[in-house]
Amino acid sequence: MQAGASSALLGACSPEVPKLAPGAAPQLTLPGGWVGASVARGHRLREGAPEGPALQGGPIRRCRVLIIGGGVAGLACARGLMQAGIDDFALLELEDQAGGNSRGHQMGGMACPLGAHYLPLPGPHAQAVSQLLEELGLSRQVMGRTVYEERHLCHSPQERLLYQGQWLEGLLPPAESAQAQAQYLKFAQAVAHAQQHLGFAIPSRSLPWRAEHAALDGQTFAHWLNRQGLQDPGLRWYLDYCCRDDFGADASTVSAWAGLHYFASRHGFHPPGWQDSAEREAVLTWPEGNAWLTRRMAQALGEHVHCGRTVLKVSPQRHEFHAQVWHESSQSPEQWRASALVMATPLFIAQRLLGEAAPPALHDATTQMAYAPWLVANLQVKGPLLQRQGARPAWDNVMYGAQSLGYVDAMHQSLVPQAGPTVLTAYWALPQARRAALYQQPWTFWLQQLLQQWGDAHPDLLQQLQRADLMRWGHAMSIPVPGLRGSPALAHLAESPNGIHFAHSDLAAYSVFEEAYNAGHRVATRLRSQLQGPARR
Ligand SMILES: Cc1cc2nc3c(=O)[nH]c(=O)nc-3n(C[C@H](O)[C@H](O)[C@H](O)COP(=O)(O)OP(=O)(O)OC[C@H]3O[C@@H](n4cnc5c(N)ncnc54)[C@H](O)[C@@H]3O)c2cc1C
Repeated sequence: MQAGASSALLGACSPEVPKLAPGAAPQLTLPGGWVGASVARGHRLREGAPEGPALQGGPIRRCRVLIIGGGVAGLACARGLMQAGIDDFALLELEDQAGGNSRGHQMGGMACPLGAHYLPLPGPHAQAVSQLLEELGLSRQVMGRTVYEERHLCHSPQERLLYQGQWLEGLLPPAESAQAQAQYLKFAQAVAHAQQHLGFAIPSRSLPWRAEHAALDGQTFAHWLNRQGLQDPGLRWYLDYCCRDDFGADASTVSAWAGLHYFASRHGFHPPGWQDSAEREAVLTWPEGNAWLTRRMAQALGEHVHCGRTVLKVSPQRHEFHAQVWHESSQSPEQWRASALVMATPLFIAQRLLGEAAPPALHDATTQMAYAPWLVANLQVKGPLLQRQGARPAWDNVMYGAQSLGYVDAMHQSLVPQAGPTVLTAYWALPQARRAALYQQPWTFWLQQLLQQWGDAHPDLLQQLQRADLMRWGHAMSIPVPGLRGSPALAHLAESPNGIHFAHSDLAAYSVFEEAYNAGHRVATRLRSQLQGPARR
C-alpha cells in the first residue's frame, strides 16, 4: 500500500559534490512518501467504536475461534489450530496484508522489509520456531544435527561499523586501551556468569524466574552497569546500540534483566580477541526480511485470513464473544460471533477493544508498559555508494555515534556478482517523546534527518537516491522497562483470564519473532485441548 506517496523538494547541495548538510544549495525532486499503514484505520481505532446503528448492522458471521490480529502471534495461533485439525476459525487483520511488524515492501522490483528483517538461529528452547523452520524448508536434520539452508543464512560480511572515518568489521568498537579491554572482559564474564548460574532463554518464560532475575528486573541496565564500574565509552555505546536495536530504547530505559538477556539468551558477549561461536551468531535473513516467513504462514491459512477488517469492539457475552468489525473495502460493518476469542493485537489495543470487559490484569499490565516509536526508511539507490576505506559493504552497516541504527542492504543475499541498484533499509528507534513529531512532521523532514546522519559515511547518497518510502510505527514494540518482565499482571495474561486468550509478543515484555510465535503457538495448544469436546455455539 502506498499511502501519501508524492514528490518532494529536498534541500540538497551541489550536484558534483553532494554534501548532505542541512540548508545547502540546489533543490532536488525526489519521489517518495509514507507507506505501510493506513492512517484512517488507525484513527478509527483510536476514536473507538461509535455507538448506534451504523456499527451494529451488517452480516453476522460465525466461527468457533476468532483470532484478532494477523501478526506473527496471530498467524502462529492459526497455524497451530489448522495443524490440530481445527478449521472452524477466522483471523481478522486490520491491514491489507497479514504479518504485522514483520511485513514487506517492494521498490523498483526489489523486495525490502517494512519492519523485522532477521531471525537468529533458534536456541534449544525455541522448539516451535525450529519446527516451523523445518516445515518451511529452511532447515533439516542431518545425523542428529540441524543444518540450515545456506541460501537463507546471512552471507558474509555480516556487519560493519563506521568508526573514526573508516569501516571496521563487526559492530564492537575497538578497545582503545588496556583499561577498556579489561572492561570488555569484565562484561563478558558477567554475561557468562548469568548464562551459567541464572539461566536466560528465548522464549524467556521457558526457564524459572528467580529472585536474582527479579533484582535485575528492578533496575535499569545503565544503573547496573554503573554499579559494576563498566563505563568505557566504546562499550557503553555498543550496549546502548544493542538495547536500542532489540528493545527500542537505550540502557538508561530498559531493565538490567533485558540488557543481560540480550546477550545471555543467545550468543553471549565476545570481546575483541575472544573466540567467536560462529554458528550461534548466524542469522536467517531475506530481502523482504521476516515477511518471507509471515507470507508463507499466511498463504497456508488461505481463506481463514480476512485482511482489511478493523475490529472496533469486542464484548464477551454469556456463551460467546461478539466483535464489531469494520470491513474496509466495502466501508460497512460486520458482526462476528465465536465461542473462543484470541486477542493477538498489542495489549494496549486489546485493552481498548475490550473496554470495561477487560480483565483487571490487562489494565494493570498496560499501565506499566511503554512502547517505542520506530521509523523505517527504504531508500532505493541507482548503484553502489562511494565507500570510505576499511571493511567492504556488509548486510548491516552501522555508524558509531549516530542517532539512527544504520541500514541493511536488501540485495545482500543476491548472488549477482556486481553491486548494482539496491534498496537500503534504515532503522531508527526514536525516543517516546518524538512519537508526536513522527506523525506531525512530513516524511521529507525525517528523510533529511537520516541523510544528515549518513553524510559522513556516504556523501553521494543523495545523488544515487531514486525514491524513499518511509514507514512510521507509532507503537512498534514493548520496551522492557524495569519491573515489566517480572510483572504478575503480564504473567497472568498468559493464563487466559476471563476465558480470553492473549497471544502477542507483548506478553514477553519485549518483541522478537520467537516470543511472538511462541505466544500464538501456546494458545493454539491450549485451545486444542479445550476444544476436544463439542463446540459451544
Ligand atoms: C521496525 C521493527 C524492526 C523489527 N526487527 C525485528 C527483527 O529483525 N527480528 C525480530 O525477531 N523481531 C523484530 N521486530 C519485532 C517484531 O515486532 C516481532 O518479530 C513480531 O513481528 C511481533 O509480532 P506480534 O504478532 O507479536 O505483533 P504485531 O506485529 O504487533 O501484530 C499485531 C497485529 O494485530 C493487528 N491489529 C491491531 N489492531 C487490530 C484491530 N483492531 N483489528 C484487527 N487487527 C488489528 C496489527 O495490524 C498487526 O498485524 C521488529 C519490530 C519493528 C517494529
